[in-house]
Amino acid sequence: MIDIASNLHAILQDIPEGTKLVAVSKFHSVAAIQEAYRAGQRIFGESREQELRQKVHALPEDIEWHYIGHLQTNKVKYIVPYIYMVESVDSMKLLEELEKQAAKIDKTVKVLLEIKVSAEETKSGLTLETCRTLLADGGWRSLRHVEICGLMTIASNTDDERQVASEFDVADRFFAEVKKAYFADVASFCEKSWGMSYDYRTALLHGSNMIRVGTSIFGERIY
Ligand SMILES: *Cc1c(COP(=O)(O)O)cnc(C)c1O
Repeated sequence: MIDIASNLHAILQDIPEGTKLVAVSKFHSVAAIQEAYRAGQRIFGESREQELRQKVHALPEDIEWHYIGHLQTNKVKYIVPYIYMVESVDSMKLLEELEKQAAKIDKTVKVLLEIKVSAEETKSGLTLETCRTLLADGGWRSLRHVEICGLMTIASNTDDERQVASEFDVADRFFAEVKKAYFADVASFCEKSWGMSYDYRTALLHGSNMIRVGTSIFGERIY
């Protein structure tokens, strides 16, 4: 049996105070989320639009929902009413669509820019160069209903801890670069979302202040 409450407590014991823990509940049941909620967890991460909407309606209103999966522009309108933060923004087009849909309901959506630090072919996210260009172009400055709060990244899926650490270091240095160039006076640009079940300890040693943990809380996902 998986004991969600004790898994949660074990992780909270293990991480520095102030670290945000996103409980990644994708593919897990409403009952599992309720169990985590009863144990005090309030931030949950989902990666599919329909699944998110179903869960939102079945669960308490004070949950802070984070969208962490690849988001298609045409799905934005379905999630904007419910979402607290979109961690996986990887284009100006997506920022513009988030702005448009959030403006319609007079809401502000927090976002992270997802950057690519792994050489793995399949990983999504902006390359550092593309992210630099996006920021230098400056179009994001006119967004009124989207607040860029930091960066998100996923490291290579490997046992090589040094490799993973060096990728998180790249993300951390890039955060410092971007913070200095564009967000020096913006206190809310502060989130560094890296680290999952298998690498969150490494991530926390390399700049992370927000971890996204699924398996270590809820057990294996059944697809
Ligand atoms: C699924 C997922 C996670 C959680 O992964 P675990 O290995 O189960 O902790 C974290 N981040 C993203 C972007 C994910 O898609």
